[in-house]
Amino acid sequence: MTHQGNSAASRDIAFHLHPYTNLKAHETVGPLVITSGKGVTVTDETGKDYIEGVAGLWCTSLGFDEPRLVDAAIGQMRRLPFYHAFAHKSHEPAIDLAERLIALAPVPMSKVFFACSGSEANDTAVKLIWYYNNALGRPRKKKIIARAKAYHGVTVAAASLTGLPNCHRDFDLPLAGILHTDCPHHYRHAEPGESEEAFATRLAANLEALILREGPETVAAFFAEPVMGAGGVILPPATYFEKVQAILRKYDVLLVADEVICGYGRTGNMWGSQTFGMKPDILTSAKALTSAYLPLSAVLVSDAIYQACVDESARIGTFGHGYTYSGHPVSCAVALETLKIYEERDIVGRVRALAPRLQEGLRAFRDHPLVGEVRGTGLIAGVELVADRATKRPFDAALGVGTRLVSFSHQHGAILRPIGDTIGFSPPLIITETEIDTLLFRFEKSLADTADWLV
Ligand code: PLP
Repeated sequence: MTHQGNSAASRDIAFHLHPYTNLKAHETVGPLVITSGKGVTVTDETGKDYIEGVAGLWCTSLGFDEPRLVDAAIGQMRRLPFYHAFAHKSHEPAIDLAERLIALAPVPMSKVFFACSGSEANDTAVKLIWYYNNALGRPRKKKIIARAKAYHGVTVAAASLTGLPNCHRDFDLPLAGILHTDCPHHYRHAEPGESEEAFATRLAANLEALILREGPETVAAFFAEPVMGAGGVILPPATYFEKVQAILRKYDVLLVADEVICGYGRTGNMWGSQTFGMKPDILTSAKALTSAYLPLSAVLVSDAIYQACVDESARIGTFGHGYTYSGHPVSCAVALETLKIYEERDIVGRVRALAPRLQEGLRAFRDHPLVGEVRGTGLIAGVELVADRATKRPFDAALGVGTRLVSFSHQHGAILRPIGDTIGFSPPLIITETEIDTLLFRFEKSLADTADWLV
């Protein structure tokens, strides 16, 4: 493909340093320039429509043209476009939203801290955990455990928690004291014949062994996504969180639930923590909090953590953490309207009602020669492609099979997410049954093209 003259694509190549992109390939491949959106569909600069099968980056839960969110933003812009929350200042959108989130929390929570992104929320959680343990006079209890294939973002601490090599390699990460334990993917990592429950028992034992090896007095917290998203849509095996939480309790290790993808209905409950029985001490969320119309993230903290931070800030002066845009009033106004819409439209009930259409629709591809595993819950799913179903042998990564399937899906009018050779699905929560069927049909055609391309 060539991109010439003054087109958007050529100017993109000339001036735009892209996140999460092969920068060299981009110079020749160029961008897919999206110009508008309606419902679950986005349109590119040539006028071609695509069903957004991943809601952008697992985030535009209410689709691409919800007028109430636009009105909420405009109204707040007119009233008060910016104010901050440093040094005892506040404003009603942040106050109302904090109150609402505490009422919605899956377990009793005490306070909400606002940031702009999932990464900032997770970095904040790390700093709160360190501050908390200093407040309690436990300066050595600082290590944090996350999991291989976890995705917690890309700021320095969050990227360290992330368990994906590309987020560490050449960035001199992870930071010391951030450790990784097993990825809980039964299909990939269970022993032959090992049940989900036995696999969960083994992983919990490995976690305990890691904590004991490091010294429980040095281990502060464990971070987990309820469903691991960007690592490949990996669901916890049966009994996993029950067994992991028993270990965490035994060694006084905090649990942080990263609900950045799972929060606000995605898994068929308001929180992924409810779907999988997690009882977090800290909960981080973002994305669907505003249906991604504006940047906002929220960190919910337990009363025990809050009280320790109160005492410490009284002792040393200030809780010295916060962003200019923490609790930005326009983002908070949009979030409040988003949460109102979720309630009015019973978004959780809607996800539950639609989930079988997507999950069973995808499971119909289970016997396809390229499909190793179909997994998912609610309106999040992954289809893992393999070279050999019997042995689960993956394709040679250099072939780029997942990426190839997704470029076929673009031709057929569907945007999907390649995660290696797992194809991710996470459509807007407002998708209809008919649109799910269309998405499945376009995926089927893409799978057929991929099979033809491989022979
Ligand atoms: N946590 C999870 C589970 C995510 O999926 C993401 C982003 O995809 C993040 C954190 C980071 O969020 P952000 O990209 O807003 O920094």
